[in-house]
Amino acid sequence: MLETAETTYQLTRGVGLAAALVLVLMLERWKPHARLRPAWGTNLGLWFVGALVMAGVCGACGWVVAAWAAEHGLGLLAWIGAGPWTAIGVGLLGLDAVSYLWHRANHQLPFLWRFHQVHHADASFHVTTGLRFHPGELLLALPVRLGAVLLLGVPPEGVLLFELVFGVANLLEHGNFDFPRRLDPLAQRLIITPALHRAHHASDWRELDTNFGTVLSIWDRLGGTLHASDTGRSVVTGLPSWSRPEAPALAASLLLPFTSGGGRARPR
Ligand SMILES: [Zn+2]
Repeated sequence: MLETAETTYQLTRGVGLAAALVLVLMLERWKPHARLRPAWGTNLGLWFVGALVMAGVCGACGWVVAAWAAEHGLGLLAWIGAGPWTAIGVGLLGLDAVSYLWHRANHQLPFLWRFHQVHHADASFHVTTGLRFHPGELLLALPVRLGAVLLLGVPPEGVLLFELVFGVANLLEHGNFDFPRRLDPLAQRLIITPALHRAHHASDWRELDTNFGTVLSIWDRLGGTLHASDTGRSVVTGLPSWSRPEAPALAASLLLPFTSGGGRARPR
């Protein structure tokens, strides 16, 4: 029974994210923000290695942990007797806030930055940048996400919904396209738009250390890290500490956490 639920969870998540990827690719083709040469091979290669590693470790861990916690009545939401919709809503907000804090920690702590810099090392800003994560970063994030699910007591349906919303937002905000010029500032009040996240990928430490949110922009507003940016700006993206003309390819990206000290010598 649980196995069927896990398969449905994996399928729903996979189909939802594939549909979002196709949508963003179409938007990029229709109205691109900038002319660029995406690092298809490196980005898709990193995604493939990361997906293999995560499937090997535990592909449906979020669902399994949430189902186990629900069965045993564990977590804050279970203890306060929250109804199913409240639990799902608070779960979505809570997991998005934890993701903001975790992303911020990835920029602040040199050990975490060693892995997260691989995501920023893409010289172009393209939907596949949203798939470009070092497997080490994915492994380090797993206990944080699972711990948050357990502590909050997010129901399994809430975890699935969050992973869908989070995954779609992640692909959308890495898109080489823009929301309509007048709509973008309004949207930024609520969510992270491609223009906001493009600033997060700037090849400048001051901008790169802003806009850490993935779904909602409220966490950056509360944390004092929101940096407004508009759709008309052309942003030079990539790693500030990378001095070579070519961005690291697949093998160099996999080795980057161990070959680069993390480039923490930032001008303040
Ligand atoms: Zn980042």
